[in-house]
Amino acid sequence: MSLNIAIDGPVGAGKSSIASLVAQELHILHLDTGAMYRAVGLYMLRRGVDPQNEAAVSAALPGCHVDVRYVDGSQRTLLCGEDVSGLIRTPEVSQAASAISQWPAVRGEMAGMQRRIAAGCDLIMDGRDIGTNVLPDAALKVFLTADPRERARRRYEELRQKGLPDTLEEVLAALVARDEQDMRREANPLRQAEDAVLLDTTHMTIREAVDAIVRLAREV
Ligand code: C5P
Repeated sequence: MSLNIAIDGPVGAGKSSIASLVAQELHILHLDTGAMYRAVGLYMLRRGVDPQNEAAVSAALPGCHVDVRYVDGSQRTLLCGEDVSGLIRTPEVSQAASAISQWPAVRGEMAGMQRRIAAGCDLIMDGRDIGTNVLPDAALKVFLTADPRERARRRYEELRQKGLPDTLEEVLAALVARDEQDMRREANPLRQAEDAVLLDTTHMTIREAVDAIVRLAREV
C-alpha cells in the first residue's frame, strides 16, 4: 500500500514549502493541489468568466484542461498544455481560485484527478480538503496553521520578493477574506480532519515544521 500524507490549512501556513521539503526528505512526490485550483481560476479570468457565477464556471469547465508534470522532482502546472506555474501566484488568481473552488463541479474534477495521482504512489498532498475529502484514509494527516498576522507577514514577503506591490494590511485583508470563503463554502470547506495532528507554525521555522512532520511520518 502506498504512503499518503495529507496536509491542510489556511493561507500562508507554509503548507507548500513545508510539504515540498518533507517530500524531498522522504523521497516521495509532492502534489500542491492549490496550484490546480489556481490554474482553473486563471482560465476563468482569461475567458472573462465571473468566478462567482457557478453556472458560467460550470459551462466553461469542459474547455479547461489542468494537468501536472514533474520536472527534476518539482511540480509544473499545465493549463491546456501551457505551463502556467509562474502565472498563478498573483493576488487576482488567488481570489479567483478561492471563488471557483466553491463550486462542486470544479471540486469533483480536481479531487478525481488528485486521487488518480495518489493511487499507487507515495506522496504528500497539500490543500484544504485533503484529509477530509480527497484522501480520507491517508496514513498521516496534518493541519498546519499559524497566527493570521504571521501568515500575512510571510505572504507579504513572498509577494514583495516578486515585486508585487500590495501593503501588509492589504495582504492581511485578502488572506482573511480568502480563509473565510474557504471555510464557509458548502462543498468540502477548509476544516481540520478529526484524526489530523494540529501543528501551529507561528513560532516555528520551516526546518522545525519539516522535522516534526518527517518524525510523524516515520512513526506511521
Ligand atoms: O493553497 P493555495 O493558496 O494555492 O490555494 C488556492 C485556493 O484554492 C484556496 O484559497 C482554496 O480556495 C482552493 N483550494 C481548495 N482545495 C484545495 C486546495 C486549494 O479549495 N485542496
